[in-house]
Amino acid sequence: MIVLITGPSGAGKSSFIAELMAADQRLAFSVSTTTRPMRSGEVDGRDYDFVDEPAFDRLVAESAFVEWAQVHDNRYGTRRSQLEEMTAAGKIPVLDIDVQGGVQVLDQFGSELVSVFLFPPSWEELDRRLTSRGTDEAEVIATRLRNARHEVSYAPRYRYWIVNDDLAAAVARMRAVIAAEECRSDILGTPPLESDTSD
Ligand code: 5GP
Repeated sequence: MIVLITGPSGAGKSSFIAELMAADQRLAFSVSTTTRPMRSGEVDGRDYDFVDEPAFDRLVAESAFVEWAQVHDNRYGTRRSQLEEMTAAGKIPVLDIDVQGGVQVLDQFGSELVSVFLFPPSWEELDRRLTSRGTDEAEVIATRLRNARHEVSYAPRYRYWIVNDDLAAAVARMRAVIAAEECRSDILGTPPLESDTSD
């Protein structure tokens, strides 16, 4: 199983993923590679693998990425080796990636992919959340809101829709999704008990 989570800025994706990971030790966060400068409080190798532009170019040339995209002014990508290491260790990778990368992942993976689009409860609430951060100019917030409306247009491609109205409730629904996915007969393949096909 691979868990893909996409949602617009302000949907509360980071807290949602942090709570989810804390609740289920089998999940492992897929650390993306990025050319974005490190923010204060971030740790190289934990939040992202921070690389410069030539290093990112080399990884693209080596086809090291399952997907990559330019988001705002920087590039972000998911390395194939990351996913392989996590699945080899028996972990369920959790990918936090934007719609451009999400589409690439949706096109490559089959039924093992659990795709989730995380929604804010309303446009008014998204506006309120972005404004209350108090860190961004009105123009930046307006751009984020426009981008969010564009990102939501990709939601129909995702199998599950979760509205982040209340963090604990949204995480509980996500855990229910994972539990249901683990019961899928088409994934399990072999029934847990032997059957008798004679009449
Ligand atoms: P931030 O710079 O705020 O950490 O992330 C900006 C955006 O980049 C978020 O929407 C996040 O989901 C997206 N992102 C992070 N890692 C990846 C990645 O590996 N691939 C893609 N396509 N997007 C990513």
